[in-house]
Amino acid sequence: MSSTASILTVKCPTCQRAVPWTAEQTFKPFCSERCKLIDLGEWAMEERRIAGEPLLPEDDNDDTRFFQ
Ligand SMILES: [Zn+2]
Repeated sequence: MSSTASILTVKCPTCQRAVPWTAEQTFKPFCSERCKLIDLGEWAMEERRIAGEPLLPEDDNDDTRFFQ
């Protein structure tokens, strides 16, 4: 088994997985292209969410609580 002590690792901002900081990791600091796209997507989605967040009307009726 080879030691990984000499390899610097960073945490993937999306899934918090340890990512080895090597030339092979083209998506660093993300662990994969998928995580990179997810992070970019969340940025875009949050901007949209702030612009028009659908607010659910609160209902204090006990009958509706039964279905939750
Ligand atoms: Zn990841």
